[in-house]
Amino acid sequence: MTTARDINTAMDLPAIDSSCGLALIDHAGKMISVNPAFLKLFALPPDVQNKTFAELTGAMNPVATHFLLQAIDGEHGIVSKRTIVIDNKTLTAHIIELNQAQRLMMVESLPASLFPTPEINHPARTPGTASLINRSMLSKHIANWKPDRSGTVTPAMLMIGLDRFKRINETLGHDSGDQLLKFTAQRLLRVIRSDDIVAHFAGDQFAILQINQNQPVAATTMAERIAELLKRPFLVNGQQVNISASIGLAILYQDTESTTDLIKHAELALYDAKHNARGGYRRYEQSLQQSASEQHELEVNLRRALFLQEFTLFYQPQVRMHDKKIVGFEALIRWEKLGAGIISPLRFIPLAEDTREIHEIGQWVLQTACREAATWPENIQIAVNVSPVQFESNNLKQIVQAALAASGLAPQRLELEITEGLLIKNMANALDQLKEILTMGVSVALDDFGTGYSSLNYLSSFPFSKIKIDQSFVHRMHTDKSRTLIKAVIALGSALGIKTLAEGVETEEQFDYLARNGCEEIQGYLISKPVPAEQIPALIS
Ligand code: C2E
Ligand code: CA
Ligand code: CA
Repeated sequence: MTTARDINTAMDLPAIDSSCGLALIDHAGKMISVNPAFLKLFALPPDVQNKTFAELTGAMNPVATHFLLQAIDGEHGIVSKRTIVIDNKTLTAHIIELNQAQRLMMVESLPASLFPTPEINHPARTPGTASLINRSMLSKHIANWKPDRSGTVTPAMLMIGLDRFKRINETLGHDSGDQLLKFTAQRLLRVIRSDDIVAHFAGDQFAILQINQNQPVAATTMAERIAELLKRPFLVNGQQVNISASIGLAILYQDTESTTDLIKHAELALYDAKHNARGGYRRYEQSLQQSASEQHELEVNLRRALFLQEFTLFYQPQVRMHDKKIVGFEALIRWEKLGAGIISPLRFIPLAEDTREIHEIGQWVLQTACREAATWPENIQIAVNVSPVQFESNNLKQIVQAALAASGLAPQRLELEITEGLLIKNMANALDQLKEILTMGVSVALDDFGTGYSSLNYLSSFPFSKIKIDQSFVHRMHTDKSRTLIKAVIALGSALGIKTLAEGVETEEQFDYLARNGCEEIQGYLISKPVPAEQIPALIS
C-alpha cells in the first residue's frame, strides 16, 4: 500500500488511481496537487493547482467548501479526521501532517447508510464522544419537532465549548486531548435528564438539547451546573488538567421562532460567552447576531490574511535622549483588510492568539522585520514584539535563527519585546527559551513595564537589555503617582544596568521631564508615528 510519506516524496498524485480522494496541500492551504478521485468527489475543474478551497467557493458545494476548510484547519504534527454527510454520502477527511510545509488530505466516501449510527445517549456503556450523536443528527432531531408554543415547557439548546482546548492538544498531545473530550462527554451525560440529548460537534464543542422542561429556568440551571462541573480538575493520562467551558443557550419560541435557528442561536451565544464570559454562560439575544457574525468574519478573514498578504509592518523610531539620534525602530504590525481599511493590532492580535494564528503571523513579522532592518545602516536596531503564545510551541529560537539567517541581519541588531504576562504564566519555560535566544546574541526588552505585576523578581531573574515604561505613565505624568513610578523605574534600571525607554512621548514637557530624570531613550508621536518602511531612509538621513 502507498503510504503518506511515499506519496509526498513521489508527489505524483494525478497518477494515483484510487477511489480515495487525495490532495497535497501546503501550509497556506493551497493545493499542490490532487488525484482524479478528489476532483470527482467535489466535482472540481482540473485546474485546481495553487488554489485554496476558499478560492473555489463558486465551483463547489458551499457545504463541501466549509468542510474542507475546517478539515485543513487542524494543528501541526497531527493526524486529524472530520466527517460530514453530503448528498447522502458520508465523506471522511483524514489530514496527515507530512512535514512543516505540507499536509496530505485523504477523503473517503461511503454511502450514508454504511456509516455506523450511534444510538442516542447510552450512559450505561462507557461513553466516549463516539457514542454521541453528531451535529447533523441533532439537526434532524430538532427538525422533527412538533411545535407547542402554549407554555414555558419548550426545547432549549445548550452549546458547550471547552476553553483553550487547542492548548491542551499542543502542550499535552492529542491523545490527552481525546481523553479529555471523552471525560467531558462522561460528565455531561451525568448531568442530563433521560429525555435530554447530548451531541458532540466537531472538536471541543458539545451540545445538549433539553426537551420537556420549564424554560428558561432549566437551561440556565443546567448551564451553571455544567460550568461548575467542567471547572473541576480532570485526571488525564496521570496528569491533572484544569480547563473551563463556555456555554451558550437558546430557547425555542423565546429566543427563536424556528427550529432551524435553534443551534445557530445557541452557537452565537457560545461565541459571545467565549469572548465576554469565558468559563460562564450567555443566552442568545438579537444583538449578538450582528457582533458575533462580525467577530466570526474577522476570524475567518484573519486566517486568510497572511496568504492574501494583507499584513504590513510599520516602524516607529526609538530615539536616544542625549543627542536625539534614532538608534532603532520598533516593528508594529498593520492589517490592511480589503474593504475594511486598517485594523488595529489591538483588535486582531488577541484573536490571533486565541486561534493560534499568532504562530505563523509572528514568524512572518520576524522574517519581514529582519529582512527590512538588514537594509538599514548597521548601527540601527530592530525591535520585534513577541506574544506569550509564541513560546508555547518551544521553537521560537529556531524561528528567530531562521529569520536572522535568511536576512543576514547580525543577531546583535535584533531585540525581542516581551511582556510580563509571559513570565507570570510560565516563568521557568519561558526564561529557558529566552536564555537560549540570548546565547545567539539577540537581546530581550521588557515591554509595557508597570502595567502588570512588575515584580522585581523578573528584572533580576533575566538580563533584560531594556525596560520599556508603559505609555499610560507617560500620559499621566501630571499625577504624582505616575511621576514617582517613572522616576523609580529609571533609578531601578540604572541600578541594575538596564536601559530605560519611555513610550508614548507626545509633548516637549514629557520629553524634558524624562531627560531630567535620566531616561535614556524615548519613543512616541513627538518624534514620529509608526511609518511604512519606505519612509525610513528619510527619517535616518
Ligand atoms: P506596544 O508594543 O506597546 O506598541 C506601542 C503602541 O503605541 C503602538 O500601537 C504605537 O503605534 C502606539 N504609540 C506609539 N507612540 C505613541 C504616542 O506617542 N502616543 C500614543 N497614543 N500611542 C503611541 P499599535 O501599533 O496600535 O500596537 C498596539 C499593540 O499591538 C502593541 O503595543 C503590541 O502590543 C501589539 N503589536 C503590534 N505589533 C505586533 C506584532 O508584530 N506582534 C505582536 N505580538 N504584537 C504586536
Ligand atoms: Ca512593544
Ligand atoms: Ca509597549
